[in-house]
Amino acid sequence: MTESYDVIIIGSGAGGGTLAYSLVGSGKNILLLERGDFLPRELDNWDAKSVFVDGKYISKDTWIDRDGQQFQPQVHYFVGGATKMYGAALYRLRPPDFGEIKHVDGISPAWPLSYDDFEPWYSAAEQLYQVHGEHGLDPTEGHWSKQYPWPPVSHEPRLQQIHDDLAKGGYHPFYAPCGILLNEADRPHSACIRCAWCDGYPCMVHAKSDADVIAVRPILDRDNVTLVRGAEVTRLETDPTGRTVTRVEVSRGGEQEVYTGDIVVLSASAVNSAKILLASANDKHPYGLANGSDQVGRNYMFHNSKAIAALCTEPNDTTYQKTLGINDFYHPTKDYEYPMGNIQMVGKSNAEAMRGEQPDRTWFAPEWSLTDAAKHSVDWWLTTEDLPVPENRVTLDKDGNIHVTYSNTNDEEADRLYGELKKILNHTGMAAHHVFRKNFYMDMVIPLAGCAHQAGTCRFGTDPATSVLDTNCKAHELDNLYVVDGSFFPSLGAVNPGLTIMANALRVGDHIRQRMA
Ligand SMILES: Cc1cc2nc3c(=O)[nH]c(=O)nc-3n(C[C@H](O)[C@H](O)[C@H](O)COP(=O)(O)OP(=O)(O)OC[C@H]3O[C@@H](n4cnc5c(N)ncnc54)[C@H](O)[C@@H]3O)c2cc1C
Ligand code: SF4
Repeated sequence: MTESYDVIIIGSGAGGGTLAYSLVGSGKNILLLERGDFLPRELDNWDAKSVFVDGKYISKDTWIDRDGQQFQPQVHYFVGGATKMYGAALYRLRPPDFGEIKHVDGISPAWPLSYDDFEPWYSAAEQLYQVHGEHGLDPTEGHWSKQYPWPPVSHEPRLQQIHDDLAKGGYHPFYAPCGILLNEADRPHSACIRCAWCDGYPCMVHAKSDADVIAVRPILDRDNVTLVRGAEVTRLETDPTGRTVTRVEVSRGGEQEVYTGDIVVLSASAVNSAKILLASANDKHPYGLANGSDQVGRNYMFHNSKAIAALCTEPNDTTYQKTLGINDFYHPTKDYEYPMGNIQMVGKSNAEAMRGEQPDRTWFAPEWSLTDAAKHSVDWWLTTEDLPVPENRVTLDKDGNIHVTYSNTNDEEADRLYGELKKILNHTGMAAHHVFRKNFYMDMVIPLAGCAHQAGTCRFGTDPATSVLDTNCKAHELDNLYVVDGSFFPSLGAVNPGLTIMANALRVGDHIRQRMA
């Protein structure tokens, strides 16, 4: 049986879920096809061993790296997609990110649209996703048309101390934008309980601003919305001209199903959307759907990131640690001509998370248990922009396996940023208290499997020879196919991509509504 809809959206995460929300008022029949199910609410949601050691919520998928080695990517197939697990740090890109930027390893290309084009959609996304923060504190941010809907999440004492020390030292720390449903003025009625299980865990009490809670669930009682779970889209078929997607093929519970829609929107995340397009090759699109330019799958990015645990003699009693950001090295400085990136906090580490994330580095504290080490750590996340290199790409082999070929870029900038963090740690008195030798930090470069910030495999642009999508995120080569997940980024900046994906989905949603009117 074939079911027909006005719009079919493939994937219900940051892009697809937000798009569905923006289209619901149109009255058009919308179908959301989601490979996963609802994420179960259970005690394991907040159990570090289940989440980090057993990887309970990570897909069993394996991908293959450039050396032919299989690895298990940290992807999560649930209603809400990666946002079920995300840290909900909802940053805007900075205005220069939309222009061309010179990096040590090459050029980060300009976007076809400017920060001003995105600003209204950033504001709308911040309101929708209930972001807490304070515009105006970070000198690198662009203009904003609306203040955040919620005040910033307060710093706990240790973070406040770090903030004050940094400010005294001439840095410009700011409140990180947080997508959590915390009402600090009325804690008894706050959905969020301000716990330590936010970053990398699902929220058991549904108080994280994820795409499931904010965008998908609120529209499921509408007559014009259908969500089909456990529906893995495997292929898109076109009409004989190759201009129109006519069939969406789905594998569900071992059976094949087919759906049709006037408009089809792919939002399965950067790697999986590329996979679906490449797997949909036909006579008119011999190298994959919408791939006449040979750009589908290319320019894969996921940030050059490091997680750092700075160990101190005094314990760090912070519960919710993600309240602070530093962008003093986001743009070139007087000492270094290239941008280095963003510094922010990650969720408070614990012994299980440390063991799960880096099993071969648990030797570092012979006289300390991991629990001691985690209790004494202050935990940072460093993000440097990686470049959209054509050779960094997603391909499929003849059996349909995903290959991700990737080489780092901008390592020098990432190392400089780490150097700046060390100066910060010294400045805030942490190095003086290190339990091991001075300047010892436990650090971890995020590997290829840590694809949380995956982006860039179907970039948007004005030239069909060098981009897959036009500025409305419609495929240049098709009349009814759009892509609204993280694939569309022509370059990734150095802040977390979630808010930009949500803002773009609202922008594209506005275009699709007008098109259907
Ligand atoms: C642990 C973690 C922490 C993060 N922290 C942050 C943060 O603090 N701030 C931030 O901005 N970003 C963060 N991110 C990244 C952010 O979550 C992603 O950038 C964002 O969710 C990507 O949106 P998307 O729409 O491209 O993909 P997703 O949100 O992953 O959505 C893709 C959806 O498509 C579905 N799907 C996949 N294949 C198919 C198929 N074949 N058929 C049907 N459905 C399919 C998936 O199940 C999923 O629901 C984090 C991610 C992770 C994993
Ligand atoms: S801090 Fe709040 S939003 Fe995050 S997991 Fe805890 S209760 Fe949920």
